[in-house]
Amino acid sequence: MDLGLKDKVACVAAASSGLGKASALELAREGARVAICARRADRLQHAAREIAEATGADVLPVIADVTVPADAARFIRAAVERWGQLDILVTNAGGPPTGTFEDFDEQAWLEAFNLNFMSTWRLIREALPHLKKSDNGRIIAITSVSAKQVLPNLILSNAIRAGVHGLIKSLAQELGPHGITVNAVCPGPILTERLVSLFQKAVEERGITMEEAQAAWTSQIPLGRLGQPEEFGAVVAFLASARASFVNGALLQVDGGMIRGIM
Ligand code: NAD
Repeated sequence: MDLGLKDKVACVAAASSGLGKASALELAREGARVAICARRADRLQHAAREIAEATGADVLPVIADVTVPADAARFIRAAVERWGQLDILVTNAGGPPTGTFEDFDEQAWLEAFNLNFMSTWRLIREALPHLKKSDNGRIIAITSVSAKQVLPNLILSNAIRAGVHGLIKSLAQELGPHGITVNAVCPGPILTERLVSLFQKAVEERGITMEEAQAAWTSQIPLGRLGQPEEFGAVVAFLASARASFVNGALLQVDGGMIRGIM
């Protein structure tokens, strides 16, 4: 299937590793020009080189922290200045800390809200005028299965990502008339640095082994294994493509069947 992504311009946030990087790589593989951002210059440059070498695509690394409004704006502007257009926005950020209700004070909630909700809002706000001019306007938010089924010890993620889904569903209604589709992709357990850090936390807090920590996740997944980042990136690339032109307002889990709810 030709995804129709050749020469489209994509901004993929928080993409020096993990799911953001895998999404940028798949978009680049399909012929898109890709701007990526992250906070650390060395890891970002390395990721940009890797994606460019693997795909031959034009890749623009922009050092930016999506929790900082001016950085998020600069990231989007850099892509538009370089290529004169923007067709696809993939919002993403690191995950919030693990813990339960009594672990977090007001400041911690505000920080998590800024990290996972406001970063999505501000990237979309900055990108929107450009996406409206595209014939293939796409917004894809990387969220979590925690927005569909609460996960233990992840109250910040559970609560805040549900809010992001509310934003995405609302925007699917509001931006549809502009020809822009707005969807979320909800990762289940996919083997990235974030997931390894969740395993490590469980080892420290519960005195179990890494193997036991991993098994606690895989036992919930009908496919019996963790996902790989490229399996996630492929779904993002499809939703970004011309071939997904009638998919709007979907909150699509990529989780090996972990979520058992019907909705
Ligand atoms: P990761 O921690 O492995 O990678 C996160 C990337 O984001 C890194 O490149 C990091 O440098 C960058 N980043 C972090 N904070 C940033 C910021 N403020 N500004 C710019 N860049 C920033 O995480 P991941 O596994 O790729 O997950 C991506 C998102 O999906 C996270 O929000 C995570 O919580 C969520 N998620 C992941 C899984 C999973 O199993 N991997 C499952 C559910 C949800």
